[in-house]
Amino acid sequence: PFRPIADLVHAHALAQPQALALADGQTHLSYAQLDALMDRIAASLQLSGVRPGEAIALCAAPSVRYAALCLGALRAGVVVAPLAPSVTADALAAMLGDAQARLFFVDAQAVPLLPREGMMPLVALDTVAPGQPWDAWLAPEGAAPAPVQVQPGDAFNIIYSSGTTGTPKGIVQSHGMRWGHVLRGQTHGYGPGSVTLLATPLYSNTTLVSFFPSLAWGGSVHLMPKFDALRYLQLAEQIRATHTMLVPVQYQRIMALPEFDRFDLSSFRAKFCTSAPFAAALKADVLARWPGSLFEFYGMTEGGGTCILAAHEHPDKLHTVGRPAAGSDIRLIDEAGRELPPGEIGEVVGHSPSMMTGYHRQPEKTREAEWFDATGKRFIRTGDVGRFDADGFLILLDRRKDMIISGGFNIYPSDIEAQLRAHPAVEDVAVTGVPSAQWGETPVAFVRRRAGADEEAAQIMAWYNARAGKTQRLAALHLIDELPRSAIGKVLKRELRALHARLAA
Ligand code: ATP
Ligand code: MG
Repeated sequence: PFRPIADLVHAHALAQPQALALADGQTHLSYAQLDALMDRIAASLQLSGVRPGEAIALCAAPSVRYAALCLGALRAGVVVAPLAPSVTADALAAMLGDAQARLFFVDAQAVPLLPREGMMPLVALDTVAPGQPWDAWLAPEGAAPAPVQVQPGDAFNIIYSSGTTGTPKGIVQSHGMRWGHVLRGQTHGYGPGSVTLLATPLYSNTTLVSFFPSLAWGGSVHLMPKFDALRYLQLAEQIRATHTMLVPVQYQRIMALPEFDRFDLSSFRAKFCTSAPFAAALKADVLARWPGSLFEFYGMTEGGGTCILAAHEHPDKLHTVGRPAAGSDIRLIDEAGRELPPGEIGEVVGHSPSMMTGYHRQPEKTREAEWFDATGKRFIRTGDVGRFDADGFLILLDRRKDMIISGGFNIYPSDIEAQLRAHPAVEDVAVTGVPSAQWGETPVAFVRRRAGADEEAAQIMAWYNARAGKTQRLAALHLIDELPRSAIGKVLKRELRALHARLAA
């Protein structure tokens, strides 16, 4: 049965008051301290006049205070809208307007993005940001909020989609939806004694799908405000981490460290990965050298179903994203919206018991994202293209918008990327389509070389083109120091297309 997360934290505070709940390298809170702080935060929100169902916004680096604020807001039934400090001032203004937040909590990271006037009231999470100082805003010790009862259907948070393919959309997630993540977390071993190390931003669902279950089941969470591969390993060893969620590029950076094998990582029980394509060879490397199970999730913030690959159980399926999780129903549809038989390639649509109600204040966008089967069951379109193999494992090809149509053929950048990754000089690669007079579109590649590799771009391209089918041949290959990525590690293909245009001019 459904339990509000804030109530679960309170229960842990009674059962294990001294147990560590949150740490960020600067401060830490036991469960008793966290529970008391959540009360003060909930009371402060009520004193500020924020009512249940209304939103507050946050734009800051991950910290204990940030995390406690999210949890305290839950106790007051207040909806949290965590915003990315990595966006432009205009995008931030758009998200703030969309969320209709009553209060805005900021730290130094948000300062360059703040509009000069017309701002909602600010509360400063650190000593640098403008607004009411945190200590002045926070109700005195011992303050108790008026109790608020939340229902599964009530809004929990508004998460803005990464904006990988356009402007960010506000996705309203309910308490019931988070509860679904919490239940899944129980099967992944979060609980008293579990130690979760998180090194991705708190505004991303990627982080939150691990953060909330950790605390709901009484484990501790260590936040790493700024990821650094070596520092991550030092910290993991020091705190004896049992769980972690990382995005593929973080796994790549960690596994590439020459020092990797010197660390004692025997405390790990489960590692998770989501948010972007996770190369099969990288999964194999993690399985071979890093103790504990490895789970890859494929899904979207909208909650339209999840696929899970328990990589440690299926070493022959590392090229897939696994099978639909319990309660998830994943289907494939064609351009006309017709359901496809098994084995065919199409757009992935997903259903789960806890899907977003819709995009915040965008009914039109919500309708575009929905698909209904013959029985009227509601699915969310992912915009991703894939197919099921004979064993029911989903093979993901690409985002529909990234597919290249060249001379009438569909080319999947992921195919070309996979082949290029087999070249010994290639550490990281992304392929995208660019306009071509002859073919309509044609593929070009961007390659980051391994340290010490000295092959020229032309050599790597010739090596690949000699192996590729005619339509899959590259028109250009550029060497690049760093692929442009969002803060959550997704390759920004539109930036690559712009870069190619500049390089080709
Ligand atoms: P926007 O919708 O604004 O363009 P976004 O789709 O990147 O942003 P998210 O909801 O954070 O926002 O990400 C979901 C998408 O991330 C999926 O549709 C898929 O393309 C990609 N993704 C998630 N998990 C995986 C995975 N395991 N392997 C490959 N891609 C993944
Ligand atoms: Mg999306």
